[in-house]
Amino acid sequence: MMIQAVHVPESAAAVAAHSARGGWIMGGGTVVMPLVNSGAATGSELISLRRAGLAGIEVRDGVARIGAAAPLSSVEEHPGLGFLRPAMRTIASPTIRNLATVGGNLFVAQPYGDLAVCLLALDALCEIAGPGGRRDAPVADVLASGVAGGEFVTAVVVTLPEPGTWYYHKAMRRRLNSASIVTVASVTRTEDGVVTSTRIALGGVAPRPVRAVSAERLLRDRPLSPEVLTEAGEAARSDTAPFDDAYASAWYRARVLPVHLRRAFTG
Ligand SMILES: Cc1cc2nc3c(=O)[nH]c(=O)nc-3n(C[C@H](O)[C@H](O)[C@H](O)COP(=O)(O)OP(=O)(O)OC[C@H]3O[C@@H](n4cnc5c(N)ncnc54)[C@H](O)[C@@H]3O)c2cc1C
Repeated sequence: MMIQAVHVPESAAAVAAHSARGGWIMGGGTVVMPLVNSGAATGSELISLRRAGLAGIEVRDGVARIGAAAPLSSVEEHPGLGFLRPAMRTIASPTIRNLATVGGNLFVAQPYGDLAVCLLALDALCEIAGPGGRRDAPVADVLASGVAGGEFVTAVVVTLPEPGTWYYHKAMRRRLNSASIVTVASVTRTEDGVVTSTRIALGGVAPRPVRAVSAERLLRDRPLSPEVLTEAGEAARSDTAPFDDAYASAWYRARVLPVHLRRAFTG
């Protein structure tokens, strides 16, 4: 479809007014623009979030509120979000990270969406605006079901993980600028080496980021030893629905999942 209008509203309320009338929300456009250029766009109007005042990041009292239109490079560079820096640096290239936004990363198909995997492990909350007003929803719901027509994400809110509880590992074909074969992100607490609580999110192994609930169950009250972690990775296969793509086959993804889950914790 040909694009007939591009709106660049200057507030979230103005975005909401445009989206209520239809139109396609655009963050950084790294996914949207190639579709527009190839004629595969599904709508005829674009609504850019670039000037809508949704790009701020505030970190205060152990909580981060990250505007949906914040580019990934702002997350990477923010001094209060240092735990996410290594993860951000596994995403695409610096040029793409300057354009691609936090909100957009929630809506890209796997094997992309590595920040989305982190946000799922962190149990982030999405702030959403739309024709019906404002609402909040767990990122798990947004990743599983998207948002309603006319709605858009305005920010994500994250409780910062306690020191020593954050784990991230992304297996790629190349060390940089490559999509995920398996991405693992986790907030895991231990006491005397034994797991007291854990949330594990996986990317690259299902059409959307998923929680590895079987692995989480297996790890509770057990040590974070390589053997237990391998068992947990094998259990996690039942939480996944791997796919074939240009980076890896479904078979390969399932086969290497336990190795990469273990590496997320043991390095
Ligand atoms: C070459 C290349 C390599 C990449 N490699 C990686 C990688 O390794 N890891 C990774 O995680 N990602 C990767 N990406 C994907 C990149 O991170 C995403 O393209 C980006 O995060 C999407 O953000 P955007 O703002 O550009 O989205 P857009 O293209 O603007 O939008 C994408 C979708 O999200 C919707 N959307 C955008 N913002 C919102 C919002 N606030 N509320 C509701 N809907 C919204 C749009 O309507 C659209 O459907 C890569 C992309 C490219 C082009």
